[in-house]
Amino acid sequence: RFKALMISKKDEGGQSVDWVELGTEDLMEGDVLVRVSHSTINYKDGLALEARAPIVRRWPLIPGIDFSGTVAESNHPDFKPGDAVILNGWGVGETHHGGYAQYARVNGDWLIHRPAAFTAAEAMAIGTAGYTAMLCVLALEAHGVVPASGPVLVTGAAGGVGSIAVSVLARLGYHVIASTGRTSETEFLRGLGAAEIMDRSELSGKARPLGKERWAGAVDVAGSTTLANAIAMTSYGGTVAACGLAQGMDLPASVAPFILRGITLCGIDSVMAPKAKRVEAWDRLARDLDRSKLSELTVTHPLADVIGLAPKILAGEVRGRVVLEIE
Ligand code: NAP
Repeated sequence: RFKALMISKKDEGGQSVDWVELGTEDLMEGDVLVRVSHSTINYKDGLALEARAPIVRRWPLIPGIDFSGTVAESNHPDFKPGDAVILNGWGVGETHHGGYAQYARVNGDWLIHRPAAFTAAEAMAIGTAGYTAMLCVLALEAHGVVPASGPVLVTGAAGGVGSIAVSVLARLGYHVIASTGRTSETEFLRGLGAAEIMDRSELSGKARPLGKERWAGAVDVAGSTTLANAIAMTSYGGTVAACGLAQGMDLPASVAPFILRGITLCGIDSVMAPKAKRVEAWDRLARDLDRSKLSELTVTHPLADVIGLAPKILAGEVRGRVVLEIE
């Protein structure tokens, strides 16, 4: 039997989050059983644990949208016992039992082989947040934003997606403008390679239809007026990759930057991204993410701490990334 965290619906309304003991027969359908060694907490996991958004849509459910571990049993042609694997998204931790447990059974099509460049812990230091940061970088590149194009803005820079985006973009030679609500993290962000630090209040007010052209590209985790301002201040022909809603779901923007400056807004989704895109993103992380920067932005906790970390990540109090060790 093994230990897992379980979110259940309460009869009187609301949810409870409890540690339970399960057998592998309690897991859901799937052709690969994984012995999970590490997981992580993303913003979305915080929303699920705190019931702040309808992330969990099947009860009771083991949360955790990411895990890394070793294949224990497999009926899938691509995986055999002993293979090192990672999983990001695909509804795991939302509608299928997730990574906050010692075992997970999933559809093998959702797994990828862990790149040799990373340990199981490093793969979770990256997690969905870091893989999404790389999807954003790939989107900027696909639209012709190169270091010579001009600066690139990263919002929520001290958070998970943001800190990995800053590290990768700086390593690739971009001039990174790191926007943060935590200017106390200036030294941390400069250490990751940020060239300029911007107080996020500069981007949180109502956006004008067009602002001064300040960056050739942007990676935005905030949405709302921050994204609207990021769009309005993108220079002619530039691109904004939108992946998050840490400020809000709304987008109070104008079409002016699209029709007068020809800018592109790219939507980024990590959950249902096809396997080829995932493999490309992980290969690029192996090449373009400095592992010493990754360790600078990572802290490690036992899985037991995850309940206490959930409100912290939603309050924007978690710096960089958290690895959860599962015994
Ligand atoms: P995180 O570690 O909590 O980072 C979010 C950061 O956003 C915070 O650290 C904070 O950074 C900033 N922030 C918080 N409140 C803000 C506000 N009101 N206005 C502006 N900035 C604010 O979370 P994460 O895991 O990196 O995820 C970031 C966002 O991306 C979330 O919305 C998440 O749902 C989304 N996401 C989407 C995908 C996808 O597939 N599209 C994948 C992963 C994540 P500072 O303190 O530096 O300001």
